[in-house]
Parts: sequence; C-alpha cells; structure tokens
Amino acid sequence: MSVESGLLHGQRVLVTGGTGGIGAAIVERLAAEGAWPLIHFGRDKAAAEALLERIGGRGSVLQADLSCAEGAFELWRKAQADGRIHALVNNAGIRSEVSVDAEPEAWRAAWQKEFQVNFFAAADLCKQAIQHFRAHGGGKIVNMASRAGQRGYAADAMPYGATKAALVNLTKSIAASFGREGVFAIAIAPGWVRTAMAEAFIESHGKAAAVADIPVGEMAEPAELAELVAFVLRASQLSLNGATLDVNGGSYIR
Ligand code: NAD
Repeated sequence: MSVESGLLHGQRVLVTGGTGGIGAAIVERLAAEGAWPLIHFGRDKAAAEALLERIGGRGSVLQADLSCAEGAFELWRKAQADGRIHALVNNAGIRSEVSVDAEPEAWRAAWQKEFQVNFFAAADLCKQAIQHFRAHGGGKIVNMASRAGQRGYAADAMPYGATKAALVNLTKSIAASFGREGVFAIAIAPGWVRTAMAEAFIESHGKAAAVADIPVGEMAEPAELAELVAFVLRASQLSLNGATLDVNGGSYIR
C-alpha cells in the first residue's frame, strides 16, 4: 500500500510522547497508513528527528514539557500553527513509585507530577482538541490509559493507576458530551507492553512478576497498540466512541 492510498491519508495526527516505545510505533504505523504525524517529544530531539527520518520526513516534530502547567497549551499552539489537526493521541506518560511510608513532601510531589504529566496535560490537550474539532468538522481523541486504571494498582505506584482511571473517565465524558459534534474519544488500556517503561519495572521486580498473571504469557508489543490506534482513526469507524479497549493478554477481563 502506498502512502497516498493509505487509509489515513491526509490525516494530521498529534502523538504525544512520540519518541517513546509505544509512541514511536504509533508514529511509524500512522505514517505507513498515509497520515502526517505531528511527533511530540519532551527532551530527546535527536530521537524525534531520527524517527521523522525513518518515516521519510512526512511529518513534523514538536517539543513541549508536559510536566509544566503551560506545556500542553504550548504544544497545541505549535501543532495548530500549520493547519487543521484531525486526531490527538494522548500517549505521553510516566510511571513513578512512591511508598506510603515516604515523607509527605515526596509523597505529594510524586502524586502531583504523575497527575500533571499523565492526566492534566492530557485533559488540557483534550480541551484544545475538542474546541478545534468542533470548529473543523470533527476529530478523534485516543487516550492511552492502562489496565492499572481499571483494576487498581501496586502499593508503590498508586498515583499511576489513579491517573489512568481518571483518563478513562475523561474519555467517556468526552464521548458522551461531544459525539454529536463529531468529536470521538477512545481509551486504550494495555497491560504490560515491551518498552522502556516495562523494562524499568522488570529491572527492579523481575520479568516473572510482570507476566505471572498474563494468560498469554507475554507482554504486548508496541506494534500491537500502534495497529489498534490506526484502526480507531479510520474514517470508516463511525460508532467506535467512548469505549475502553483492553489489550492485556486476558489478564483483566471485564
Ligand atoms: P516510554 O517511557 O517509552 O514513553 C513515554 C513517553 O512519554 C516518552 O516519549 C517521554 O518522552 C514522554 N514523556 C514523559 N514525560 C514527559 C514530559 N514531562 N513531557 C513530555 N513528554 C514526556 O513509555 P511507553 O511504554 O511507550 O508508554 C506510553 C504510554 O503507554 C504511557 O502513557 C504509558 O502509561 C502507557 N502504558 C504503557 C504500558 C507499558 O507496559 N509500557 C502499559 C500500559 C500503559
């Protein structure tokens, strides 16, 4: 399939955390299907430019620090500067560990940072996207949540699970409130996916701890998530709205 005949041809899609494990796979897949990815990066400009080169230069790179209160609004301004945006993929995220035995200052700092990056920045981008999509004939939002937001999470990473639960709820509100105006929202809830985030967990807890409760016995590959995002963004998907798509090997079945 050529880029011109791809199912996503002409769609300009902002992907946050575009240089991370899942983000880069999403960018490559969207580009292969003809989209024009707007590749957001936080710090690693070289990785963003290398990714842009891998997709033949058919995209743009945009920097923004989503741990700052203004980061998401700055990012949207940059993304919108070149014209209409058709979809937003809120993929950037962090997973920190903090114990209930931590000092109050460290405890509060961990919760605030996790919520800023994983949820507040995503909510700010959703606000901007909804306004933009309403004015330009519609658009789609994909929020990268997590199984952690559905079933509760580990004692040392409770902020992470809470941010992802909030993201799932936000997705439902958007789908229900703005669907009539052509704004679609979907959450994706992966279990472990083989990326740097998972490797960090494996390093401290071991692989057995990660895959023990996954019936298929393995973590998901980033390409699986990327394929799903591309599917959600197809123009033919007119009723897929408000759902949380589980990609967890059967480790959490609702
Ligand atoms: P990753 O660490 O490889 O990528 C995370 C991305 O977020 C990076 O590109 C990073 O630059 C960006 N980011 C983090 N903090 C930022 C900041 N302050 N400003 C700007 N960008 C920032 O992780 P990943 O595994 O690719 O995760 C992608 C998404 O998938 C995350 O939202 C994560 O929570 C979610 N997820 C991952 C897994 C997993 O097992 N890997 C499972 C469920 C959900």
